[in-house]
Amino acid sequence: MDYNALAELLFPNVKMTTEDIEKLYPPRELKEGAVVSRMAPSPTGFVHLGNLVQGMTSERLAHQSGGVLFLRVEDTDQKREVPGAVEVLIDVLKHYGIVFDEGATKDGDSGAYGPYRQRQRKDIYHVYAKKLVREGKAYPCFCTEEELAAMHEQQAAEKANFGYYGKWAKFRECPLEEIERRIAAGEPWVLRFRSDGNIENKIKFTDQIKGALELTENDIDHVLLKSDGIPTYHFAHAVDDTLMHTTHVVRGDEWLPSLPFHIQLFRALGKKLPKYLHIGTLQKMDGESKRKLSKRKDPELALTYYQQEGYPVKAVYEYILTILNSNFEDWRRANPDADTDEFKFSAKKMNPAGSLFDVNKLRDVSKNIIAKMSAEEVYELACEWAKEYDREFYELLAGYPEYSKEILAIGRGGKKPRKDIAIWKELRGYMDFFFEDIFEPEYVYPENMPYEDIESVLREYPKYYSPDADQTAWFDMIKVLSSQLGYCPETKEYKKDPGSWKGHVGDISMVLRVAVCGRQQSPDMFAVMKIMGPDMLFYRLERANEYLKDHKKDFEKAL
Ligand code: GLU
Repeated sequence: MDYNALAELLFPNVKMTTEDIEKLYPPRELKEGAVVSRMAPSPTGFVHLGNLVQGMTSERLAHQSGGVLFLRVEDTDQKREVPGAVEVLIDVLKHYGIVFDEGATKDGDSGAYGPYRQRQRKDIYHVYAKKLVREGKAYPCFCTEEELAAMHEQQAAEKANFGYYGKWAKFRECPLEEIERRIAAGEPWVLRFRSDGNIENKIKFTDQIKGALELTENDIDHVLLKSDGIPTYHFAHAVDDTLMHTTHVVRGDEWLPSLPFHIQLFRALGKKLPKYLHIGTLQKMDGESKRKLSKRKDPELALTYYQQEGYPVKAVYEYILTILNSNFEDWRRANPDADTDEFKFSAKKMNPAGSLFDVNKLRDVSKNIIAKMSAEEVYELACEWAKEYDREFYELLAGYPEYSKEILAIGRGGKKPRKDIAIWKELRGYMDFFFEDIFEPEYVYPENMPYEDIESVLREYPKYYSPDADQTAWFDMIKVLSSQLGYCPETKEYKKDPGSWKGHVGDISMVLRVAVCGRQQSPDMFAVMKIMGPDMLFYRLERANEYLKDHKKDFEKAL
């Protein structure tokens, strides 16, 4: 077979050589050890946790080594493409602090190694395709879909391995004359790789996450170019990552089965294989067993979920670090206030089997992070979230900034800050009682208290409250009221001799808490009353008392 003639026949318009192209993609001038990595998403519109995991891994490896991170859009599968998907991806990743040094952007491309959208690189792939044909490493295949389906059925009947290989590779040895005739007749063709692999052979390979692997050689003559001349992922991957000088390919381990083919392809092109990091799938516990996170069953797989729920970006980022690197939590304990960029991210510390995702753990991380924020920061972030997802609450926060910040400052800033908020969505429920408009009380008083005593507390307390009292004086007055009503002012004393009292000071405080906050749990009541001010406080007591009287029978019955 005259491969030169075949190459000219298939690619008559390709005049450039691979050398010409490679002059346009000179080696990058980076220091020794700098990692060049990339994200290469297909623009399907759904941005998931796996994207973030992959993006963070690539980003950390590239940037902490003084390297480059770029974004390449793998848009070779036009059928799956969703308009606007690239923009969404760029925005979401930016939201999590992943910024690309070069690649596709919202207004075109930026960087010297583009174009960064594969459909625009068609001519480049053809130059490499022509070279492979000239070297006898690729050939056209004219099989129709029906023929391939029939081959598949036949293989099933013979219990043979599926795929286009060996004796099944109908056009592998097709004479030039027949190819000429078919092309002249306008028959569509795809370009296939002429595999020299044998499934009896094993290849040794070291993955940066999975470690030493033994893979079976590839014997399939995979498609390199589809009938419209657009490359398959495999071919585009080898050409692009060569020209763009990618040193580390970070991708999901669903690509592991394709690796033997990729190794072959790089060899056929005469190019150096990049290092590979195959990330294991994210899993979660489902009852006693682990399973893969699923798009259908698990809303937490979508990155939009974290925005909607109101997880601070920092919390999601930090949590992902804890599941990606096994030593991150120890590092965090030793460096509680350090910036996460100071942590030395390492592929060696990644779990080869994939990480276990646990929303409760994420919530804990988030609580810790929010507890350390200033009231000002909480206010800003909560406003940003509420503006988008809870308009009514937003209006209140924005309408009363100083008041809101005072509320958010309760329990903040000390050695042991309160850790009661995990997501911004919960903030409304945490502080709604401070706003008359959204206050929805549930009056559930201590069970041991008779109607009359509750009523007395609600009626009498204003006489005991002074807005100028400090915390001790304030509490002393609640103790005085307790004694007046026959409730022990000291809890400890009460415990020694509960029979002598109707209850203790905690019961009186609880009545006040329920009346003022409309629930049994609240932040520190001294702070709450101080921020509310006497007008609102007394109004709340009155309102609670009216409710009590209106529902007298229910409250009496409850006893
Ligand atoms: N387009 C591929 C994907 O989205 C890219 C894999 C890779 O990073 O090489 O899975």
